[in-house]
Amino acid sequence: MNNLYDIPLDELTALLSTWNEPGFRARQIYSHLYKKLATDPRTMTDLSTGLRERLAAETTIGTLRLIREQTADGGLTRKVLWALEGNAVIETVLMIYPPDRATVCVSTQAGCAMGCVFCATGKMGLLRNVSSGEILEQVLYFERYLRENAPSLEQQRRKPIPNHITNLVFMGMGEPFANYDRWWEAVQRLNDKQGFNLGARNMTVSTVGLVKGIRRLADEPMQVNLAVSLHAPNDALRSSLMPVNDRFNIADLMDAVRYYTDKTHRRVSFEYVLLEGKNDTPAVAVELAALVKGMLCHVNLIPWNPVPGMPLTRSHRERVTAFQQVVQAAGISCTVRVERGIEIAAACGQLAAVPTATEMIGLQPI
Ligand code: SF4
Repeated sequence: MNNLYDIPLDELTALLSTWNEPGFRARQIYSHLYKKLATDPRTMTDLSTGLRERLAAETTIGTLRLIREQTADGGLTRKVLWALEGNAVIETVLMIYPPDRATVCVSTQAGCAMGCVFCATGKMGLLRNVSSGEILEQVLYFERYLRENAPSLEQQRRKPIPNHITNLVFMGMGEPFANYDRWWEAVQRLNDKQGFNLGARNMTVSTVGLVKGIRRLADEPMQVNLAVSLHAPNDALRSSLMPVNDRFNIADLMDAVRYYTDKTHRRVSFEYVLLEGKNDTPAVAVELAALVKGMLCHVNLIPWNPVPGMPLTRSHRERVTAFQQVVQAAGISCTVRVERGIEIAAACGQLAAVPTATEMIGLQPI
């Protein structure tokens, strides 16, 4: 059965023409899906009864199956575990920052093949790519949640709460550029004025450093923000943390990032997870500052979030501050990320999508 979220507008128009429906019907359905957030064709009352019935019989609106929803930070962080068709699992996180920001962290792959040593998702290996429709559905779920729940959250917290998503970060499970076509298809519909209509500048994609993807993004007509997981300023250290560095070393990566900033004039964000005794010494900070000096960039420090069973240590606050000061002293913009959802394993690098034994019931082997 066709998942309507997987069908771009032009293909929906073509499908409806085979049903002898005029082109404007596709635009009506598109608006129901991405603006009115419909979940049932029977609610699309501006369509004929026959078309609504046919859509209900021959298509679906979404395929994700919610397995678990957890909250943290007084309800301002919500993490959802989803089963995909075929029973791979992914997670999506909503982070609300009163009064006016609500960010969704979206997964683009179930698991990940990149194997970064500090990341729970990397330990899963890659199960499968997430489709464009599955990417969109993660976003639309939380848009619906905010529309319905912002008023009650405001009452509880006595603070303004945004009633819509303001920012998307493709930093959940997976490497977006390893699933570029499907990810970009979703981004286009999220940006489309006739679709979800979120500005490209409110979207950020994070890559482990796939240089072809960075160059391809630079050449796109739409300017999505770029974050690059750097985590070390030299090849030996970076390769010990991120196997991808053996394929694309730091020199290749920096060339690609310069191509992106030259082409787009947009500032790139270098993400830097701090691991005590590994990559958080003052000497490494000096090396990092020298590497990125003169680039149109910002450095975002992320004290590592614990993952059970990993023999790593989160950098102590004093070491984080000392590292930040060295980078800033070199004239480079550098901040420490305020983490959300650590206690529900929703923070950076913690997404592992592990169903409990009870939740496994009903899931078929992949
Ligand atoms: S940090 Fe990102 S790229 Fe690396 S293993 Fe985790 S999900 Fe994959």
